[in-house]
Amino acid sequence: MSSLSEEQQIDRLTRLLDVSRQLSATLELDSLLQLIIEVASELTFSESCLILLYDPQTKSLEFIASPGVRSKEIKTIRVPIEGSIAGAVFKKGSPLIVQNAHSDPRLFRGVDQFIQHTTKSILAVPMMIQDRTIGVIELVNKKDGNNFSKEDQTTLSILASHAAVAIQNTNLLVTLKKANEELKALDRLKSDFIAIASHELRTPLGIVLGHATYLEDILEDREGREQAEIIIQHGERLKNIIEDLGNIDTFQSGKSRLRKSSIDIRKLIQEVVQEYQEMAETKNISISIDNPQGELKTTGDKEKLHIAFGNILKNALIYTNDRGKIHIKTNRVGNFIETSIIDNGIGIPESDLEKIFERFYQVESHLTRRYGGMGLGLSIAKDMVMLHEGKIWVESVLGKGSKFTVLLPIKIE
Ligand code: ADP
Repeated sequence: MSSLSEEQQIDRLTRLLDVSRQLSATLELDSLLQLIIEVASELTFSESCLILLYDPQTKSLEFIASPGVRSKEIKTIRVPIEGSIAGAVFKKGSPLIVQNAHSDPRLFRGVDQFIQHTTKSILAVPMMIQDRTIGVIELVNKKDGNNFSKEDQTTLSILASHAAVAIQNTNLLVTLKKANEELKALDRLKSDFIAIASHELRTPLGIVLGHATYLEDILEDREGREQAEIIIQHGERLKNIIEDLGNIDTFQSGKSRLRKSSIDIRKLIQEVVQEYQEMAETKNISISIDNPQGELKTTGDKEKLHIAFGNILKNALIYTNDRGKIHIKTNRVGNFIETSIIDNGIGIPESDLEKIFERFYQVESHLTRRYGGMGLGLSIAKDMVMLHEGKIWVESVLGKGSKFTVLLPIKIE
């Protein structure tokens, strides 16, 4: 039979429900545990309530919440697993009511001595996460001198499960924060490395290219000039890679600024095509521009947009087989200028479409690649387009070709 009247039971359940709502709205662990011990004592008419957490390092239980003025000091006490009621509950993973705690040999007397208090009765329940016990929650001494009842045990078990969830959430949050900080530190390291590497490589490479060009000019024999030309070609490739690295560094560090001017996007496209004409001719790829007449102007950084379109066109040339076709369309769509670069090249697998704009991402693994590159071109293009508050996306069919589209807002400043 229940020791509580029906009215008292309803009261208790209503209060528990109330507290559950309050608990799910509180994120701060200490105030949450404090609320749990206050409510547990109030609902069960107990003198106090204590929450103990298992510390795997010391293999003992430590107080993480307790009422009263000495709560700070009590946190320094370690309750052993062997030789304490809380320890017995922790080990067995099941609740325990000890009505006559003072004469029970399992009572750990360290706490009573420390806070000058006499424990007469204890109700202790385990705090569980799934089937793992993480600690114990205890009620000490009934105020009305009665024994702890089954209802008290149920009430405390409900509150113990709230406490366990709160502790687990906090632990997860701490782990997540730590992982996040580590990631940020790694990212900073990567940025620093990129900044230093691109800066330090630039000067010696400039000297190598300068001397190779000089040699190409002064050498009389054809073979010697060809050798110098090879050095220049590969030096230029290296220069492009270093420039790419520098570009991502300036964007990442927020140093990237727009040098704005009025740009005719159609004219810009023609200039970009001009730049890659030689590469197209070498591969026998035709580049056609749809409707090249008529200005389509916006305000932006010409150099940065040149890089963006250049990287997309360069890819179209790289990833299209000899004698392929590239088609470029630029149109006004509402308040935007939409440019599409369409190739009939090798295409991109659907599962890679989202990822190709990430830094260093390449569809083929670096080890088996046939095409070279570093996986930076598209991420740079995306950065440049984003700086202009634009959008970039791709549609592609494997083996048939790809269509990259850039949408830039029309801004007249
Ligand atoms: P990469 O230096 O490798 O070209 P990008 O960032 O420019 O780096 O491109 C990322 C990857 O996207 C490329 O490695 C390639 O697999 C794929 N890709 C980009 N453009 C095309 C295209 N037009 N056709 C097919 N695949 C492409």
